[in-house]
Amino acid sequence: MSFVVAIDGPAGTGKGTITNLLSKEMGLINIDTGATYRCVALQAIRNNIDIGEKDKIIKLLDNININMELDSEGNLVILLNGEDVSKEIRSKEVTKIVSQVSSIVEVRLKMVEVQRNLAKGKDVIMEGRDITTYVFPNADVKIYLDAQEDERAKRRFIQNKENGIEMSYEEVLKNIQIRDENDRHKEIGSLKIADDATYIDTTNLSIDQVKEKVATLIMEKRK
Ligand code: C5P
Repeated sequence: MSFVVAIDGPAGTGKGTITNLLSKEMGLINIDTGATYRCVALQAIRNNIDIGEKDKIIKLLDNININMELDSEGNLVILLNGEDVSKEIRSKEVTKIVSQVSSIVEVRLKMVEVQRNLAKGKDVIMEGRDITTYVFPNADVKIYLDAQEDERAKRRFIQNKENGIEMSYEEVLKNIQIRDENDRHKEIGSLKIADDATYIDTTNLSIDQVKEKVATLIMEKRK
C-alpha cells in the first residue's frame, strides 16, 4: 500500500521548499513533477528545437529517461538519461519555455506516466499543477498552496539570486504571469483547485508556518 500527499499551486507558493523539507522530516519520497517537464524543455533547447516545432518535441520523448534520487544531504537530484541536470533545468532559458512545452498533450501524457511510475508502491509527496486533479485524484492528502502574485514573484526573485540565476524582478513577475496563464488553460491537467483539496493562502505565512499546517494535515491521515 502506498500513501500519496499531493500538493498543487502556481509558481512561487513554496511547494518545492515545503515538499523538500517534509520529505526529509516525514520519510516521504519527493517527486518533483515540474522537473519532468523541465527535462523535456532542456532537451528541446539542447537539440536546437524551437518551441513551435511540436512534432520534434514529441519525437524527443522516445529518448528521454527521467529519474530522481537523493544526494548525501537528502536533497533531490534530477537525472536526465543518467546525467545530473538539477541545476540546468532551473535556468532562465528552460523556465521561459517550460509551460509551453508542458502544454503539448503528448508531453503531458508521457510525463504523467513517468510520474506515476516514479511513485508506484511508495509513500510519496508530490508537487505540481495537476497532482490533486489528474495525476493522483484519489491521493490521501490533497493541498492547494496559493499566494498573491507580487509575493510569489518576490520569493522567486530571492530564490533565483540565491541560486545564481540572473533575472530582474520585472522579468520574474512577467514569467510568473505568463506561466500562470498557460498553466490555467491547458487542454489536460490545467491548474485548478480540486473540490476536496485544503486551500492554504501562504501570502502572510512563513515557510515554517506553512510546513506545520501541511505536516498536521499529513499526520491526521497517516496514523
Ligand atoms: O514547478 P515548476 O516551476 O518546476 O514547473 C515548471 C512548469 O512545468 C510549470 O510552469 C508548468 O507549466 C509545468 N508543470 C505542469 N504540471 C505539473 C508540474 C509542472 O504542467 N504537475
